[in-house]
Amino acid sequence: MEKLIVGNWKMQKLFSDIHPYFKVFKHKMALKNIQLALAVPSIFIKPCLEEMINTPFILGAQDVSEYEEGAYTGEVSAVQLASMPVTFSLVGHSERRQYFHETSAIVLKKAQRLQAQGLFAILCVGETLEQKKDFKKIIQEQLKGVFTLNPAHLVVAYEPVWAIGTGQTATLEDIKQAHLYIKSFLSEGSRNFSSVKVLYGGSVNESNASSILSLDEVGGLLIGGASLNPSGFEKLIEGLGPNL
Ligand code: PEP
Repeated sequence: MEKLIVGNWKMQKLFSDIHPYFKVFKHKMALKNIQLALAVPSIFIKPCLEEMINTPFILGAQDVSEYEEGAYTGEVSAVQLASMPVTFSLVGHSERRQYFHETSAIVLKKAQRLQAQGLFAILCVGETLEQKKDFKKIIQEQLKGVFTLNPAHLVVAYEPVWAIGTGQTATLEDIKQAHLYIKSFLSEGSRNFSSVKVLYGGSVNESNASSILSLDEVGGLLIGGASLNPSGFEKLIEGLGPNL
């Protein structure tokens, strides 16, 4: 199965960083069974699309409005994203849930908006440290309504909040258990959902990426900090090859 590696720039990088970033990826990369993707700030979508020609990336946004169109200053709609050659958007990243008080109902609406435009939704879920014992309950709540979505345009990203940007990666056993749970939850609803990819995210770096990705249950990686330096990200990706 092809694995999906998504870099998340968050609110980092400047316009002037875009050209040098993609230049690093313009050589022929030995990618087998890997699709590379980047979630960039919406303001950078157009320049990224121009600079990423002849690189192996597909492009997406980090968030989308829950509203269709209209007087929502500062928002970017799914219709607007789909009017450019964009493939996906993240929804429900823990930073959105935590700092912008997004509920699971809002996250679901956003995923529906994306799919209505033929875009992929990468729906992020994950528990905080205090919730770790009850991670199943938390994930179940965060996936409420998921069966109203189109599984063919859905990816789930499991990102334990305590592992994001902390350098504290989940253990392989933690990752395996959470992924097995999410996969079994998805398979219960409808057989079509068993093929939905489940990514892992949370302090993935050059030394742990390969072992995490070699777990059968892990369909790919969502990588924040380690995707910011292009040479480091390129080395991380090249290092994945032999294990796939
Ligand atoms: C993320 O941005 O979703 C993420 C997992 O960040 P980091 O890799 O820095 O922990």
